[in-house]
Amino acid sequence: MTVIKSCLFSLSQNSNINKLATKMGPKIGIKSFIAGTTLDELEMNIVRLNKQNIAVTVDNLGEFVYSESEAYNATYHIIKVIERINEQNLNAHISLKLTQIGLDINSEICKQNLMRILAKANEAHIFINIDMEDYGHIQSSWQIIDDCEQVFNNFGTVIQASLLRAKKDRREHKYLRLRIVKGAYKESGKVAYQTSKEIDINYLELCKSHLQDGKFTSIATHDYDLITKLIRYIEQNEISKSNFEFQMLYGFRTNLQQQLAQQGYQVCVYMPYGKDWYGYFMRRLAERPQNINLVIKQSLSKFWLKGRL
Ligand SMILES: Cc1cc2nc3c(=O)[nH]c(=O)nc-3n(C[C@H](O)[C@H](O)[C@H](O)COP(=O)(O)OP(=O)(O)OC[C@H]3O[C@@H](n4cnc5c(N)ncnc54)[C@H](O)[C@@H]3O)c2cc1C
Repeated sequence: MTVIKSCLFSLSQNSNINKLATKMGPKIGIKSFIAGTTLDELEMNIVRLNKQNIAVTVDNLGEFVYSESEAYNATYHIIKVIERINEQNLNAHISLKLTQIGLDINSEICKQNLMRILAKANEAHIFINIDMEDYGHIQSSWQIIDDCEQVFNNFGTVIQASLLRAKKDRREHKYLRLRIVKGAYKESGKVAYQTSKEIDINYLELCKSHLQDGKFTSIATHDYDLITKLIRYIEQNEISKSNFEFQMLYGFRTNLQQQLAQQGYQVCVYMPYGKDWYGYFMRRLAERPQNINLVIKQSLSKFWLKGRL
């Protein structure tokens, strides 16, 4: 299993396959995890989830950005999504990656693009989440976040429980709205825990500390065991439902998403959309190779239905 995961993870970082995949567009099985390639498809899927009392955080997919014009283009598209959310009064906000808006070109370009997005979102009272990427980008990401904190307060970011530095980062940013995740990137033992037991323990401790500090916490996991333990903790400590939400990825454990929403918890779905689906999709396969079965099943059922209709 570890070999398959490493293989899928290296494939996720291959920019040549990414180019080819972008041209092909998402195929049937993949569409269950990507909410379309146009703004209209995106809006339709947000409305569908909003009707179930589920909020959305939109990820305008885009990776391997190495030129200023690509970074500018990505910024422009994110602003278009903000405008659509605002015009249609959707229960949605934005998740973005700093590499998408220029972090690999230079920090200054990235910061300027982020500031434009934050200013536009601020006008529309829309929240922006800055996703965290691999360890190589962490320090420069925190630097930009710290600079933006001087000007804006309509954003938050992510703490990855797999990282040894996670607790320190959370303590230093305890005044931010934070999403706690396990961590999607394969990191070395020098900087990250290597066993799921250690990551799970750190995950619980991070969530509990942030909940106790009273700042909004997004509990982002599909792990039922962790969710159950946290619900117990929240009830025992009488933490208000308005101070946290559960976040899951679009197309994953939809029954659990609906069940939590029906129980009165805030639920928010991370909704990737756009043509650049490859890297995102391959990381999902790498963290849970069983998802390949899901893709095959959904593709076959669509073909089966097509044949019958
Ligand atoms: C909303 C959201 C935002 C994220 N943002 C970031 C980010 O900014 N940076 C980052 O590094 N990572 C991010 N991630 C990814 C995260 O770090 C993990 O890689 C990913 O969530 C998988 O970990 P998990 O917590 O779901 O637990 P896992 O350890 O993958 O799964 C735990 C258990 O959950 C169950 N399970 C998982 N998926 C399914 C399924 N589809 N169906 C049935 N059972 C299932 C299984 O029983 C499994 O054993 C994000 C994840 C979410 C949900």
